[in-house]
Amino acid sequence: MFSAFLIKYAEIGVKGKNRYLFEEALVHQIKSALRKCEGEFEIRRTQGRIYVEAAGEFDYDETVESLCRVFGISSICPVVYVEDEGFEKLCDTVVGFLRDVYPERNKSFKVNARRARKNYPKSSMEINADLGEAILNAFPGMRVDVRNPEIMLNVEIREKIYIYSLEIPGPGGMPVGTGGKAMLLLSGGIDSPVAGYMIAKRGVKIDAVYFHAPPYTSERAKQKVIDLARIVSRYTGPVYLHVINFTDIQLYIHEKCPHEELTIVMRRYMMRIAEHIAKETECLGLITGESIGQVASQTMSSLAATNEVCSLPVYRPLIGFDKKEIIELAQKIGSYETSILPYEDCCTIFVAKHPVTKPNLNVIRRHERNLEEKIGDLFKTAIENDELIIVE
Ligand code: ATP
Ligand code: MG
Repeated sequence: MFSAFLIKYAEIGVKGKNRYLFEEALVHQIKSALRKCEGEFEIRRTQGRIYVEAAGEFDYDETVESLCRVFGISSICPVVYVEDEGFEKLCDTVVGFLRDVYPERNKSFKVNARRARKNYPKSSMEINADLGEAILNAFPGMRVDVRNPEIMLNVEIREKIYIYSLEIPGPGGMPVGTGGKAMLLLSGGIDSPVAGYMIAKRGVKIDAVYFHAPPYTSERAKQKVIDLARIVSRYTGPVYLHVINFTDIQLYIHEKCPHEELTIVMRRYMMRIAEHIAKETECLGLITGESIGQVASQTMSSLAATNEVCSLPVYRPLIGFDKKEIIELAQKIGSYETSILPYEDCCTIFVAKHPVTKPNLNVIRRHERNLEEKIGDLFKTAIENDELIIVE
């Protein structure tokens, strides 16, 4: 029955010129989200509102689901719109609308009319009163409650007449593209896809880098990361995924550094490479799925040691989250099932039995000097062989 959606967005902080950019980006994101849906849609911006109008048949559930993944939308109102064919006809339409949407017919309601077209023969107050009366006549079990109605029946008089009452919560946040771009270190685990989601929610476009260590990590492990990038891309639009072959660097570190420091040194090289690619691709920061104390490489001392090699800001949106909270988010965004597939990740192959939890920076730096001979070349080769996969 619905033929359009009114898209509401939070307006806090969105004023003046920013508002225009925000709306442009939101319309762009809505368009790309709907491209994959069945049906033709037209997106219109009028008087500070965004309408998505279906040109014909469309899949309602799929459309709502897609809109629920567009950051910047605070709520989605399914709309029925009709031609203005006189007030009698409008009363019939509204009664039919309530009959279909609320078959119980016993709720309290309020009519909230708005005239964007001032030449309509009735004032807003008159429309409220007269439509209210028509509803009460049709459904004696319903009652008017202007303070706290169960149904807020909105009727907007424009070129056409728009009727809506439902409000489906959107994901909130800011439209992707309004906040620049950042490089997500995406592993096959639970945390990093959630971290990417959270930063994207603030309007940031996401590129990603995955460190692959064949033959220690399988093609299936790589495919899993691609699949996770695809899940993230449902919220963010296309993700440029850089796959870096990390094997030789890892083996070299394994050969030259004390084993309890392997993970820290390795993570420092991951950050260095990620930052290098980030700077070449106009990313303004790095994103990881780290959370304080989760594993040895994520204690405060370890994070300080990893952080030290970067000059770009490193965003760690999960830093204060418990694993349980992260899992809940992963389930909500739909990445959890993929994340828990068993394929090994490159860190677990080379983990020491007793990794340091309080790495001493001077010691780490000294041990990294053992790598001087070849690490420059290995670094260069890794970057030259960057495999770029566009995931959408
Ligand atoms: P996740 O669940 O995201 O894999 P984790 O708990 O396994 O995280 P670590 O392996 O210590 O934690 O990794 C911490 C962060 O470092 C990850 O969240 C991710 O951002 C990044 N990272 C780890 N391994 C890789 C990898 N192979 N490729 C890219 N990024 C990685
Ligand atoms: Mg991991």
